[in-house]
Amino acid sequence: MKVIYVSSEVVPFAKTGGLAEIAGTIPKKLKKLGVDIIVIMPLYKVIKENNFHLINTDIQVETRIGDKIQIGYVYKGFLPNTNVPIYFLECEKYYNREGLYNYPGSTEDYEDNCERFVFFSRSVLEIVEKLNIHPDILHCNDWQAGLTPVFLKTIYAGKKCFKNTKAIMTIHNLAYQGLFWHWDMKLTGLGWSLFNWKQLEFYGKINFLKGGIVFSDIITTVSKTYAQEIQTPEFGVGLDGVLRERSKDLYGIINGIDYNIWNPETDGYIAANYGLKNLGGKRICKKALQKKYKLSEKESPIIGMITRLTDQKGLDLVANKFQDLMEANLQFILLGTGDQQYQVLFQDYAKMYQNKVAVNFSFDEQSAHEIEAGADIFLMPSRFEPCGLNQLYSLKYGTVPVVRNTGGLADTIKDVSMESVYNGKVNGFSFKEYSSESLLNTITKAISLFKDKAQWLKLMKNGMEQDWSWERSAKEYSCLYEKIIGDRQ
Ligand code: ADP
Repeated sequence: MKVIYVSSEVVPFAKTGGLAEIAGTIPKKLKKLGVDIIVIMPLYKVIKENNFHLINTDIQVETRIGDKIQIGYVYKGFLPNTNVPIYFLECEKYYNREGLYNYPGSTEDYEDNCERFVFFSRSVLEIVEKLNIHPDILHCNDWQAGLTPVFLKTIYAGKKCFKNTKAIMTIHNLAYQGLFWHWDMKLTGLGWSLFNWKQLEFYGKINFLKGGIVFSDIITTVSKTYAQEIQTPEFGVGLDGVLRERSKDLYGIINGIDYNIWNPETDGYIAANYGLKNLGGKRICKKALQKKYKLSEKESPIIGMITRLTDQKGLDLVANKFQDLMEANLQFILLGTGDQQYQVLFQDYAKMYQNKVAVNFSFDEQSAHEIEAGADIFLMPSRFEPCGLNQLYSLKYGTVPVVRNTGGLADTIKDVSMESVYNGKVNGFSFKEYSSESLLNTITKAISLFKDKAQWLKLMKNGMEQDWSWERSAKEYSCLYEKIIGDRQ
């Protein structure tokens, strides 16, 4: 089975969020299951600067963008410590800049994102043709690759190498759809006949992700609950109707985490290693965290958050009740990048509550690991959450998650009220109503249970014992691949 995995970001080459981790891991696991898989992504400046070992393949693609031909160059590398090939599409004009999608340090998108990702999504097919691969499956991720299935089923439909190719579209976050000015249809070369409400048009604009959903054979998203939620107006971000139409082809496959990277027993970033059988190191990590962020070195529970600073992540709930929260005996650390308004707000809180509150507005892998290891509670009160990774890291690090019951958080975190902690199943705290009151009540419950050392320890251990590795998800993807190939025959 030959699979082309298309992603605009892949760990360790370039990352802005969860997609990169998934794209850096799932192909490795699929390869182990016998899937012949290659990955394709853009060659961003950050990749060139990091001296990865890449080979110039001498392959050159000539991709039509509007009425021009744009040349791209193809480089090859491997996912680290594997034999999974990854091909990089180079085009200085589009990808040789500081940010992946927006100006660094801001949330302002590059004005030519449409053109940049029309080029990427179409060039993928050009690269596959040049490599003379006859793929069974093109697995496309998020809006940046949303037009690949559209090109596959239209302009490239008659090509020999795509005769038996099926397309899968995976939605990692429906909130990002790739919406562009309608005149940019010209750049795609797809023809105005596709610009209608059943295909690419969305309230007068072009919608890349909608194209991917409509033209793919199968659609997946990253948890079962989110797969249901996105078919409702509340979570559908305008595409719920389109998704309901494709309901029988829509699957939810929960993400996993890479225990080679996220494991307190082997983590090289943290002050001391620890595990289920020797939890002592966690105390050292907590002390180190308090020291680094100049928090008073008390026994009070530390609440950690590592997040993009966007409305999605429930920061408004935290901000609204922050002063009430601060009356409790706790400490709070926020690591995040994004909206300026949240930075200003939490910076002010950090000034107001020195020794209790710390903020770090950088994107910093090491700090993320340190917080996972040193905190006692991990807070993720998301408005919506397709899957979420940090709650899964937290479980492994014995940092008890407090989450909102939505999407992947609902599928992974079982609230303590459901049964006794001693049955081994409950692993955190979860609330349903999106309100500051519910958040505050739930944190209050967590802090109160924190004082009961025996129960708390058991709760930590319940999470640490669970297995959220990628093997399970990879098996589900591979079954799905088998299924669509089977349907084809
Ligand atoms: P999303 O993909 O919506 O951003 P996820 O929880 O699925 O949320 O994944 C986010 C990933 O990005 C996690 O691996 C998290 O640790 C990481 N991350 C987010 N913000 C930062 C940051 N400021 N520094 C380091 N890592 C971060």
